[in-house]
Amino acid sequence: MKRDTQLIHAGAERNEYGSVTEPVYRSSTFGFRSVEESATRAAGILSGQQGLYAYTRLGNPTNAALERRMAVLEHTEDCVVTASGIGAISTVMWTFLERGDHLLADTALDGDTHKLFDEALAKFGVEVDFVDFNDPGLVERSLKPNTAIVYFESPCNPTLKVNDIAAISAIAHAHDANVRVVIDNTFATPYLQNPLALGANLVVHSMTKYLGGHSDVIGGCICGTKADIMRIRFDGIEHTTGAVMAPDNAYLVLRGIATLSVRMARHCENAGKIARYLERSPRVTSVHYPGLESHPAHAVADKQMRAPGGMVAVELAGTFDETKTFVNGLKLIQLAVSLGGVESLVEHPASMTHSMFSPAELKAAGIAPTLIRISVGIEDVDDLIGDLEQAFATS
Ligand SMILES: *Cc1c(COP(=O)(O)O)cnc(C)c1O
Repeated sequence: MKRDTQLIHAGAERNEYGSVTEPVYRSSTFGFRSVEESATRAAGILSGQQGLYAYTRLGNPTNAALERRMAVLEHTEDCVVTASGIGAISTVMWTFLERGDHLLADTALDGDTHKLFDEALAKFGVEVDFVDFNDPGLVERSLKPNTAIVYFESPCNPTLKVNDIAAISAIAHAHDANVRVVIDNTFATPYLQNPLALGANLVVHSMTKYLGGHSDVIGGCICGTKADIMRIRFDGIEHTTGAVMAPDNAYLVLRGIATLSVRMARHCENAGKIARYLERSPRVTSVHYPGLESHPAHAVADKQMRAPGGMVAVELAGTFDETKTFVNGLKLIQLAVSLGGVESLVEHPASMTHSMFSPAELKAAGIAPTLIRISVGIEDVDDLIGDLEQAFATS
């Protein structure tokens, strides 16, 4: 099955009525015919047998349909869906890290991921270092005997920095074959990039973004080997975080994924046009878009992504306050956090999603005070450029 077909059909199982859409099993619990059956079903579930359900925190048929589809899309053996992207990331950490372990992470990260690593994990005795993953030598020197997880994004939130997934995975595994390389693939989606094929061990997603695609659902997932996903499901989600996805949300994400190919094509086309428009503007000092030849890792993006995606970051000429005036002047492009929906959104990381970063952390992550991040939607690009133009004219 080709990729565009997989988005609609991968992992689908015919049900007794032949319903074309996935039924939503809005049930927390699944009855047994006898106590004996309860014991055999529980044993089956814990040994990883498919198609057995007892309680939705352990698994649900609607969630399982989404998990089968994501495993195919990410070229992994298995997947588990979670309540949110942060639910996925925290569950990975609580499953595989122990007191005294070391986590090596990139400086440019989703704001709440950074907070989870910097504050929550540190509180439980995990050693955490943040270094620039664009410097492979620095990554190599920062690995320690107790490093258990190497974590990064590519492209990164919010700067659109691109990290070389194959190179960093190879460095981590040469240091210690047991290190788990975990990639947040939210910005690219499995449609544009498959980190497991490049050497990573686990992929996490915020399904809230492009996979859901319509800004109407919060969700996440983790993709990896069958053995790792079993541990995550039964040690991480079942007993530790409880970050289980609601079946209604699994339905919405399945519906979103069905149109990912056509949405992503338009996101990429519009983002490319907006990036080139901004590059020509005298009001802009730099544009960060992996599809531009001027992007420092353009060649890496070209090698590991099928297309450069729908996110653009731009540094404006002028001051922090002038940037805020420009952003406040946009009318069609809404001021909001989140990304990956059909509608265009803009945000100002230094005062919004990354306001918890210290000035030194902002600098290390490459987040200038005048940086704005645009999630380019699938509207007519002329209307989007018109909105940017009127905001420049009035600021
Ligand atoms: C949004 C986002 C997250 C967090 O996901 P939630 O679904 O909001 O919990 C993590 N990583 C990246 C790159 C994101 O964009």
